[in-house]
Amino acid sequence: MKLVLIGAPAAGKGTQARKLIDKYKLAYISTGDMLREEVSKGTALGLEAKSIMASGALVSDELIIAIVRERIKADDCKNGFILDGFPRTVVQAEKLDELIGSVDKAIYINCPDEALLKRITARQTCPKCGASYNKISVPPKVPDICDVCGEKLTQRKDDTVEAGKARLETFHKQSEPLVDYYKKQNRLFEVDGMIGIDNVSSAIFAELGD
Ligand SMILES: [Zn+2]
Repeated sequence: MKLVLIGAPAAGKGTQARKLIDKYKLAYISTGDMLREEVSKGTALGLEAKSIMASGALVSDELIIAIVRERIKADDCKNGFILDGFPRTVVQAEKLDELIGSVDKAIYINCPDEALLKRITARQTCPKCGASYNKISVPPKVPDICDVCGEKLTQRKDDTVEAGKARLETFHKQSEPLVDYYKKQNRLFEVDGMIGIDNVSSAIFAELGD
């Protein structure tokens, strides 16, 4: 099973990906994580990516495709995989289709911006031990204090209202054509991300079948 996961920041992609991996024994492929890993390992690919990112440019489609092409050859992909963070654009989606035939399903977790912004700005992390919280869904026992180590919690720079709005805007600009692309292929499954984690999973499982 070859899946693509589409959703704005805080739409719940990570949570749903974990459930899909467990149920269908799929590999999880996050191109962002992989790029960071290549860079930290200092591979040829990583060095190339690092110099591109250092110049402030975006990593090219060719480079990302090369990474995905290698990654899906790995053993853990034999039952299939979930792509997260890729493709981001229609051009990348076309290149992916050239590479693998086509995806079985593009799952779009749709949430209104207002709700996403609330979730994003409710995120808190502990600067000392790294524990993460969410004032709405996973609040610390004492407000603003880490349960684990007692440190005062802080907010990541890109989890502020202004940064959150900008991230959502970028997401819409990039993803709407992508959603249309998969819709035209009859491969899009859109699920309402506001119905609760378990209901979102059930809807996806029902669509994919056992
Ligand atoms: Zn802590």
